[in-house]
Amino acid sequence: MATVSTLNPLQPEAARAPASPAKNAQWIDKAKAHLLQNYKQQPIVLERGLGSRVWDADGREYLDLLGGIATCGLGHCNPEVVAAVRGQLDKLWHVSNVFYSQPQIDLAARLTAAAGLPRAFFCNSGGEANEALIKLARKVQKDRGQPGRYELITFENSFHGRTLATVTATGQPKYHKGFEPLPEGFTHVPYGDLDAVRRAVSERTAAILVEPIQGEGGVRQAPPGFLKALRALCDEHGLLLLVDEIQTGMGRTGKVFAYQHEGILPDAISLAKSLGNGMPIGAMLCTEEAGQSLTPGTHGSTFGGNLIAAVAANVVIRKVSEPQMLRDVAQKGEFFLGRLRELQVRLPTVIKEVRGLGLLVGVELFQDAAPVIARCRDFGLLLNAAGDKTLRFAPAYTVSHDDLDQGVRLLEKALRA
Ligand code: PLP
Repeated sequence: MATVSTLNPLQPEAARAPASPAKNAQWIDKAKAHLLQNYKQQPIVLERGLGSRVWDADGREYLDLLGGIATCGLGHCNPEVVAAVRGQLDKLWHVSNVFYSQPQIDLAARLTAAAGLPRAFFCNSGGEANEALIKLARKVQKDRGQPGRYELITFENSFHGRTLATVTATGQPKYHKGFEPLPEGFTHVPYGDLDAVRRAVSERTAAILVEPIQGEGGVRQAPPGFLKALRALCDEHGLLLLVDEIQTGMGRTGKVFAYQHEGILPDAISLAKSLGNGMPIGAMLCTEEAGQSLTPGTHGSTFGGNLIAAVAANVVIRKVSEPQMLRDVAQKGEFFLGRLRELQVRLPTVIKEVRGLGLLVGVELFQDAAPVIARCRDFGLLLNAAGDKTLRFAPAYTVSHDDLDQGVRLLEKALRA
């Protein structure tokens, strides 16, 4: 086992051990023998983490500017989250949702207060949270006496999950291929195109499902005013506005939830990723009226709101509700975007665009992202691709300015290599 004694900055690049693949390689051989080969996995086995640093099985240190995968907003092994989880481990791990449990009730109270949406349902992942949104929209329209309204309008290039319904909601044909027949009731329109949404509304429409920023789709933000206009359109036609906050929520963009930048209130939102700081937990929050449609027996989850995940999420919502934390995210985001834009000026034929909000940042290249990501990893920087040509950064909110600076230096080195 590699041990982590200090949080030293990354070793100077010259002193970094050459990829000494002994333990990594053994584990990867075993992985290739036993794991389903459904991911394009980077060839390192991560073993430990602290803050924005992780270490692989051979003891090599990396700067993780992907923050898990937009999941560890408070950093790896955040001491307050660790203490909360440890405190719960000896008490009670799991009970059925046919009983109440305190951490879940506390979490519901905190999240609903932060969102202005009074009802919470807990599940285990983003895909499940979006399934809850889809079921909610259909059931609400049935209960309103509109059974023909079952269709969701979603957006091209969106990403909503991997279950059959959420993958169909996802507006990227590459994720549909091979899984036909897909469930009916989804229609996709260009992101940010209000006229196209208006044209797509019909007597079948139940709801509009939108990401405030398309994360997986390349870190693309909707034009200013788009969510507000969707809210108005939904009100005009009696539709539900569903906002997928799985990647943008829990402080990521400098507000607790990204829809708050536009001063609107959706009918329901989905959460996961940073909600549990790495513990698997998802949630659906909704209005009182919508919530009344999911009566006993209509929806549920065995593990949803599990006590261990809920205590972790309680720390996260407490921390990201602090105005200073949100100011930090916004300020660090501006600082990072500024540094990346300076890099773009130095490398104008390599970097096409730098974009983002808070600590969700995309760097679109003129070339494929994959080889750049591999070189970054060799230099000790972890990130991933959102689309073929965009590098995605979603660092912990606790990341330091020095780490962000170092990330830009390592990226420059990789782009020049
Ligand atoms: N929605 C959005 C916006 C996401 O970014 C993701 C995951 O990347 C999902 C849904 C699916 O979440 P999960 O992988 O937890 O099912």
